Amino acid sequence: MGRVGDNRTELARVDRERLDPFERALDRLTQREQSFVHHYLLDLSASEAARRAGYAEHTARFLASRILRNPDVAAAIRIAMAERARRTQIDADAVLCRWWATATANPNDIIQHILGACRYCHGTDHTYQWRDRREFRAALARAKANNEPDDLLPSEEGGFSYNALSEPDPDCPRCDGIGESMVVVHDTSSPLAAPLYDGLKKTRDGVEFHLADRAKALEMVARHLGMFNDKLKLQGDAENPLTVLIRELQGTSLQPVANPTDDD
Ligand SMILES: [Zn+2]
Repeated sequence: MGRVGDNRTELARVDRERLDPFERALDRLTQREQSFVHHYLLDLSASEAARRAGYAEHTARFLASRILRNPDVAAAIRIAMAERARRTQIDADAVLCRWWATATANPNDIIQHILGACRYCHGTDHTYQWRDRREFRAALARAKANNEPDDLLPSEEGGFSYNALSEPDPDCPRCDGIGESMVVVHDTSSPLAAPLYDGLKKTRDGVEFHLADRAKALEMVARHLGMFNDKLKLQGDAENPLTVLIRELQGTSLQPVANPTDDD
């Protein structure tokens, strides 16, 4: 480790305009103070930082408090943390956008319940309507193979071109105009479906679709935006909630302060 002051001489030759604010703040510190700042930013423990910066074990805790009170040290830490918040803000925004996409996604873009015409809605005189002649012939062949009596054999009197997606007929005597219910699953890889689709599971009864929890997503958006002030104030902090969130994501709610807290 070089003598205190070596570093200043070295940096004096560098074009100061090219240094970023953090480097400029560091420039005003001794090498040991710089080392302290570096370690403090890792876990925000002042006495640990003092120990790692090489201050004697038995004085580290006492000195930590004094070093943090040094305005140049405090400024370097403040700038570094502001920079960090600025960098991670991008991530926090991305997180917020993801939650918002889930909260506002439409489940119909994945799984849709549709009511369509029943077979009797549009058949002639509300008798059974076939999709096409081929479907009718297949049904007739099956009934004959099963030796159904002639009066129970399928008839083509209801006609053809049944379409399950056509509107139910309000006057249909078979479904009372309600129609027939269908569940349609759309392409889960579509951009509209993706924020909500949470995978599927094959079960004995078929396929089980999992959707993301939209209520939870909305709650997360509200928390990001600071709509639940009670929770945010637990941090003793009326700052921008996004900053609070970033700090939570970083696993700490501490800030550089003039007096070190009981940090270990
Ligand atoms: Zn019907």
